[in-house]
Amino acid sequence: MSDEVTELLQGLIRNACVNDGSVESGQEVRSADLLETYLEGGGIDLERYEPEPGRTSLVGRIEGTDPSAPTLLLMGHTDVVPVNPDGWSRDPFGGELVDGEVWGRGAVDMLNLTASMAVATKRLARSGFRPRGTLIYLAVADEEALGSMGAEHLVDHEADAVRADYVITESGGIPIPSPTGLKLPVIVAEKGSHWAQLRVSGTPGHGSQPYKTDNALVTAAKVVQRIAEYQPRTEIHDIWRRFLEGMGYGEEVVAPLLDPARLVDTCDALPVAMGRQFHACTHTTFAPTIAHGGTKINVIPDRVDLQVDIRTLPGQGEAEVRTMLDEALGDLAPKVELVSAHDDPSTASPVDTPLWDALGRVTSGFYEGSSLVPFMTVGATDARFFRRLGTTSYGFGLFSTQLSFEDYGAMFHGDDERVDVESLRLSTDMWEVLARDLLVEG
Ligand SMILES: [Zn+2]
Repeated sequence: MSDEVTELLQGLIRNACVNDGSVESGQEVRSADLLETYLEGGGIDLERYEPEPGRTSLVGRIEGTDPSAPTLLLMGHTDVVPVNPDGWSRDPFGGELVDGEVWGRGAVDMLNLTASMAVATKRLARSGFRPRGTLIYLAVADEEALGSMGAEHLVDHEADAVRADYVITESGGIPIPSPTGLKLPVIVAEKGSHWAQLRVSGTPGHGSQPYKTDNALVTAAKVVQRIAEYQPRTEIHDIWRRFLEGMGYGEEVVAPLLDPARLVDTCDALPVAMGRQFHACTHTTFAPTIAHGGTKINVIPDRVDLQVDIRTLPGQGEAEVRTMLDEALGDLAPKVELVSAHDDPSTASPVDTPLWDALGRVTSGFYEGSSLVPFMTVGATDARFFRRLGTTSYGFGLFSTQLSFEDYGAMFHGDDERVDVESLRLSTDMWEVLARDLLVEG
């Protein structure tokens, strides 16, 4: 027999709010409707926000009795990324429950948490929970594009609706076994993104006489090669250090991962997914992803446009990225113009906060002997909009021990995304206990 959180997740998956980045995609209104119907009538104040037709976010509040007590906002997005069904063993939007697992796009990113946060909020309301602090549930649109029709819009234009002291959203919480007990990573920071468009120039000419021509496509190939091979400086930042020190591994494991001179070689020797993750955690990374150039088969091209997905570490912006690009390009730099760049800097919240302490207390009740470790995600989440306001924002959820950190990582935006029912129940229970702990009844 399935339960409320499973059914709600299945409904959210079947709504298929696929966000391809266009204004008319997503249509999160379907999931806002579903959640509103689910939450209404139980003492939760519900409000909808719709900056563009169909791009609906839903806010539910259980108002606290003491305005000086903290406000906790639980934020789950309702949109998902597109799928290629060819790679899936089941219908990506079927929401099937098979052998204790719910299948479908969004099962771990992050409709699982969006559903469990809603169920916990409803349970609290139904139980007559009268907290001192305010609990806000936010089902937000447009996380998978830039958040401009979701979290960014709300923070900029509906600040009263989403103002909070503490925010929790994806991801984190996957239990990692270690010699000193289970470790639960809490995402306290995320890398920045710096999306750069580069233009490589050359001189046009006739394709029938290529000898000694200044071909922008040939130069662009070298530029791409240099960017791909560029070795940015290794940065042992505080969150990385605290993560490794918190994991309880032996000195022989930790020391090379804290040594800038040995870290890259150490990543080389790790299983590839882990090496890739650890490398990205400790470096600003450069991934050339798009190239457009040439006009006709018999014309030597004089222009190629490249796009490079650059992900920055804390403290790095425009100036640092430019220096690194110049280093990468070397003598080709004069041939390359930085046409435009969208800089969205890295954000971080402090680790030593009342929210951290509450999460530690609450989770040790679910996993005895477990402890929290801070982690920086290499991707981007809606937490960044709240961190920029100075709100302590973490990525967290609670999961069973069925799923490994690597499986979990591979399912994000990947094929055969699914989550076990036990994880859904754990998260639901955890949100409820956390709200009671942090917001205090009375
Ligand atoms: Zn997500």
